[in-house]
Amino acid sequence: MVEPNQRSTHAPESARVLVIGLDGATYRLISPLAAAGQLPNLQRLMQNGAAGVLQSTIQPSSEQAWATFMTGQNNGRHGVYGFQQRRPGTYQFSYVNGHSIRAPSLWRLLSQRGRDVIVINVPMTYPPQPVRGVLIGGLLSPGVHSDFTYPPGLYAELRQACGDYVIDVDIERGQLSDDQLADTVEAALRMIRLRTCATLHLARTRPWDLLMTVYGASDRLAHKFWKHWDPNHPLHTPELAAAFGDVLPRVYRELDAAVGELLAELVDERTTVFIVSDHGFGGMEKAVYLNRWLMHQGYLTLKSGVPRDVRRWLQLVVRSALRQGRSLLANPALAQVKQWAFARFPRLKGDLYSSVAFAQVDWTRTRAYALGNMGNIYLNLQGREPAGIVAPGATASALQDELIAALRGLINPDSGTPVFHTIYRGADLYHGPYVGDGPDIVGVKDCRYHVVTADWQRGDDIVAPLGSVMHFAADQSGQHELEGVVMASGPGVRRGVEIGTARLLDAAATILYALHEPIPADMDSRVIDALFEPTLLAQRPPKLASRYQSAAPDDDEQSDPPDLSDYTDSEAAQVRDRLIALGYLD
Ligand SMILES: [Zn+2]
Repeated sequence: MVEPNQRSTHAPESARVLVIGLDGATYRLISPLAAAGQLPNLQRLMQNGAAGVLQSTIQPSSEQAWATFMTGQNNGRHGVYGFQQRRPGTYQFSYVNGHSIRAPSLWRLLSQRGRDVIVINVPMTYPPQPVRGVLIGGLLSPGVHSDFTYPPGLYAELRQACGDYVIDVDIERGQLSDDQLADTVEAALRMIRLRTCATLHLARTRPWDLLMTVYGASDRLAHKFWKHWDPNHPLHTPELAAAFGDVLPRVYRELDAAVGELLAELVDERTTVFIVSDHGFGGMEKAVYLNRWLMHQGYLTLKSGVPRDVRRWLQLVVRSALRQGRSLLANPALAQVKQWAFARFPRLKGDLYSSVAFAQVDWTRTRAYALGNMGNIYLNLQGREPAGIVAPGATASALQDELIAALRGLINPDSGTPVFHTIYRGADLYHGPYVGDGPDIVGVKDCRYHVVTADWQRGDDIVAPLGSVMHFAADQSGQHELEGVVMASGPGVRRGVEIGTARLLDAAATILYALHEPIPADMDSRVIDALFEPTLLAQRPPKLASRYQSAAPDDDEQSDPPDLSDYTDSEAAQVRDRLIALGYLD
């Protein structure tokens, strides 16, 4: 690694930035592993640069976190509030993709200013937008056989250069055998190496001012393997820990080696390096059935016309699908079937979520409903929801107050503490033209809780331990939290400094500043001053540019993507059964 703090002798426009995204990275793992000497490259970055906690978005979920990162805007200005979003005028919920982000990205802005960019595997970048350089779509791309690159056709080049390219590993939500778990780990480690190879290949063959690459393995495997690493997790067992307790340290060691490789080749005295996560991670201990809670509290009502035997029938369907699912999981072709299905039927996953979560809801007698797995609650608002019964204005406002007070009483029976440590009205938390698309109430929880809003109609528990409920045949034991990581080094970056807590929202402006670029005045993002030497900030204070929206993508890129194809009832039923079996809907 070069000495990071030398004054650049190059012209300002030659300043460049390398961003390495580590999805879900946490000091819960980094600190002890670095202290044990297992992460030499990250350790050196922290010692020679500046590092701190990077506070995620509310909610700390990858789709909105990366949307905020790449636009420098709060959710109210980019319009992304979760993986699911309501289709206007319906009670159907679609899954988001890059089209859902209604503010221009950092790479579009830089492209317009004539800077070269290489963007690799950032979630929510499918479908790929044209940039001055290359863009490889990340999480939520339909697969390597889709058009997930700009310019198109880069997959063939990456295969040529590296042997293969992998967008993501599929962490099945059902119980896996020990062999399948071991295969998943190997697939994730291979994905890390292929990503590093792709990044180096593109950097060697294209000019760049901003190079960004995101590694997802730190998130995917932490969902699955947290309990094996964390001896305090309620589902930790010494037997399984002996087999899988080193998986997360191993993934972090592999990521550290990847960071080392990228720094060694790509960093010179004009390069600023940022390591960022989209959110942190910790142990998950409880399922929280938020729609069931709303029902018990009288805010959500099921259709009374549904006879008991129909509910019983639904139960049986789901149960047999689950049993079938366990045996299907032994079939390696299944992941491909799922990928095929979602690529072919882009609305399918959203339709499934909608029907499992809300098909039995009587909207004419429902005042509020929960969406997603974090703690977002929507009012069934007149004029917004198709059968809305809550009048906007004073009535809605009073209902929000009432719900917030009631939610404070939603208690984890084991600890006696509230599930949601902070509860906001959406309009107090977000600002901008798309606030109305967002949740009316935002409950913020920590990593111990997983909110279930899809498959909730059987059972009575509100807060249930993992393993005791069918959903957690899903077998996940780690969940996101707000506190992620940021590390930086380079020209003018402070050395050996712990900066406390910075905001993910401020990453975009900070990257622009390191590139000697002005920051659009209508961007929410502001430079993270604590990362830089006060003398640098005094000599070269951050400059504001005029409007950000001038970098908006073309209008025709803003509409919803058309369905690629429709699907027949029998195809849909077939695929739906398999997906329900996988517990894929939460
Ligand atoms: Zn995750």
